[in-house]
Amino acid sequence: MDFAYSPKVQALRERVSAFMDAYVYPAEPVFERQVAEGDRWQPTAIMEELKAKARAEGLWNLFLPESAYGAGLSNLEYAPLAEIMGRSLLGPEPFNCSAPDTGNMEVLVRYGSEAQKREWLEPLLRGEIRSAFAMTEPDVASSDATNMAATAVREGDEWVINGRKWWTSGACDPRCKVMIFMGLSDPEAPRHQQHSMVLVPTDTPGVKIVRPLPVFGYDDAPHGHAEVLFENVRVPYENVLLGEGCGFEIAQGRLGPGRIHHCMRSVGMAERALELMCKRSVERSAFGRPLARLGGNVDKIADSRMEIDMARLLTLKAAYMMDTVGNKVARSEIAQIKVVAPNVALRVIDRAIQMHGGAGVSGDFPLAYMYAMQRTLRLADGPDEVHRAAIGKYEIGKYVPKELLQSGH
Ligand SMILES: Cc1cc2nc3c(=O)[nH]c(=O)nc-3n(C[C@H](O)[C@H](O)[C@H](O)COP(=O)(O)OP(=O)(O)OC[C@H]3O[C@@H](n4cnc5c(N)ncnc54)[C@H](O)[C@@H]3O)c2cc1C
Repeated sequence: MDFAYSPKVQALRERVSAFMDAYVYPAEPVFERQVAEGDRWQPTAIMEELKAKARAEGLWNLFLPESAYGAGLSNLEYAPLAEIMGRSLLGPEPFNCSAPDTGNMEVLVRYGSEAQKREWLEPLLRGEIRSAFAMTEPDVASSDATNMAATAVREGDEWVINGRKWWTSGACDPRCKVMIFMGLSDPEAPRHQQHSMVLVPTDTPGVKIVRPLPVFGYDDAPHGHAEVLFENVRVPYENVLLGEGCGFEIAQGRLGPGRIHHCMRSVGMAERALELMCKRSVERSAFGRPLARLGGNVDKIADSRMEIDMARLLTLKAAYMMDTVGNKVARSEIAQIKVVAPNVALRVIDRAIQMHGGAGVSGDFPLAYMYAMQRTLRLADGPDEVHRAAIGKYEIGKYVPKELLQSGH
């Protein structure tokens, strides 16, 4: 496996880094101020300015491998760029590379009809609208996608949708114009064919944004993580993605790219935390020495370096496998990095917080918010335990006949 950056990737890395330095990091306090000043749930002027600049520079839609809609980069080539964007919580959106839109756009590219692509994918690619993924429900254990109980029932040439979803990230943003809704469409079908995914425009009568859910007190405005009520929502039958009963299949397909994008960004966030930790450790002194020379602080810095480099290599390996053998064969590697990356990022950010003392948990540094966001990634797109169970199953499956595994041994 060759993970060296090609000249094309190296040039893009330099351009994305330069853009982050010139515009994104300086925009962080401006963004915070603009959200605090006006209606928290309206898009900010600064983000729209950043998007226009990045688009004008051709730093746009860098994800989307193997698609005429993308920038022609493989997952392996995109990984180091997403890492740089991930250094800032504002980073991905200016480049039209943020969650959940990248995962949703990949779904539309892969599973959408031509009409669905025209109506939703194209404005998403232009960054004119945003989208949400409505799968998780408050009333059922949603780490098991086959548990979803909200319904999508066919009535003639329409779907009638009912149920309550939550953690529908991005649905609070007025730019969010469409949701991918996963609903129970045939309880009698085999377990993995009972659900369908249906595109629901957010302004359809019966869709109600109940509340934004806070994450450790952060509302993540204007994006937000919404509880959404669907009451007799009617959409045309052709809004189904791929076909009736294909919901589980799409959920599995979506999570490959969506997951690895999170991991690439987590590596970047850990790298920024390490940078802050190093700077703080030499700028501040206690007991007559710089913090770096006290206790085991230098070991914490060294451990962080080693862990980040290991996480990066595993991310690149998973990306390489996705490119070369496909998401399905790469599922163990995708699951592995989905466990490793947020846990490494959390450990590094936690050490950086500690090195900053009280300042680390204040709002004066991005560390507390970074910690909160990374902590959610041990749950979002599947909790750690679910991925561990899958990795363990693949490993044992190498040595044990399939029939024995299926019989519950
Ligand atoms: C910030 C944030 C954003 C999110 N964004 C979205 C979104 O945009 N769209 C969306 O649909 N969902 C989203 N989610 C929801 C997320 O995907 C779910 O929370 C997650 O899948 C877990 O489902 P659950 O909360 O129902 O937990 P449960 O299914 O109730 O699981 C609870 C716990 O049980 C344990 N557990 C579960 N399965 C196993 C197992 N096999 N082995 C061992 N232990 C196990 C784990 O510790 C797990 O955390 C988001 C969540 C957060 C926090």
